[in-house]
Amino acid sequence: RAKAEGRGTYRRYDASMGAQIRDRRMLEHDLRHAVSRGELDLVYQPQTRIDTGAVTGFEALLRWRHPERGPVSPDQFIPIAEETGAILEIGAWVLREACRTASLWPQPLAIAVNVSAVQLHNPHFVQFVHGTLFESGLKAERLEIEITETALIRDPARALLTLRQLKALGVRIAMDDFGTGYSSLSNLRSFPFDRIKIDRSFIKAVHSNPQGAAIVRSVLGLGRGLGLAVVAEGVETDEELSFLAAEHCTLAQGYLMGRPAPIAIFAEYTHGNAQDPVASVA
Ligand code: C2E
Ligand code: MG
Ligand code: MG
Ligand code: MG
Repeated sequence: RAKAEGRGTYRRYDASMGAQIRDRRMLEHDLRHAVSRGELDLVYQPQTRIDTGAVTGFEALLRWRHPERGPVSPDQFIPIAEETGAILEIGAWVLREACRTASLWPQPLAIAVNVSAVQLHNPHFVQFVHGTLFESGLKAERLEIEITETALIRDPARALLTLRQLKALGVRIAMDDFGTGYSSLSNLRSFPFDRIKIDRSFIKAVHSNPQGAAIVRSVLGLGRGLGLAVVAEGVETDEELSFLAAEHCTLAQGYLMGRPAPIAIFAEYTHGNAQDPVASVA
């Protein structure tokens, strides 16, 4: 009896595995048509100077409205798009759309775009960025490309070459999710980063455990020492913001200052009549 049950359990498990694989195949398939079917959208999240509260720019974040499933989270579909290569078409759409949108904003506002390892290693990437800037009329200095450390590992020599070429265009480079994954301090020295984005897991820990505050302080010290601006990600509370202000962190991004939303929501900044003078930060 126990044996039969065991086998039944095994079969059920097997069946659910099959369902998972089928589900994933369906997502892979649907993702291939997401761009042409107009199912993708960008939302924008403000980045603000901590000392003045002025908005300095926005990060573009991708959203997929699946016709049957509704919204699918990027954490769910970006890895699939990377594995299937669909990220190349999707990423191209993101960059074009983000640059076109940002080209309508007042001059100093910057746009940050997430770029995956697959895009970074594509031999046409730099030329594509160049062409997109030209088409949109956006100055290269106003585009920031966010990459994670993970994107550097596969082929560090090639990544370095690409980042140098992007820098030569005038584009800024930010290291996203700093402190997670395969962190190595030498990455900060070897690659031409302009900014470090401290991962939100560290910001969350600032008040919940003593190590949290120590880690954030040392990343800020590192940024100062290397001449890199530091962006705190995922700032949700006044306490977190006060801590960051006291520690002279330059920039903050998080639900406290604004959730990612359609750009129309931020018209007071993007239409050039903001009360605060917008200052640009290196
Ligand atoms: P990321 O680049 O680190 O983006 C920050 C994520 O944190 C976003 O999640 C944002 O909505 C979320 N966030 C911002 N402030 C807060 C906060 O105060 N609290 C909390 N709990 N979360 C906050 P989202 O939009 O779900 O994106 C997840 C990840 O998907 C991004 O992480 C990025 O790695 C990837 N992604 C998003 N858009 C794109 C894209 O266009 N291309 C590529 N390659 N990846 C993208
Ligand atoms: Mg990012
Ligand atoms: Mg991040
Ligand atoms: Mg992330």
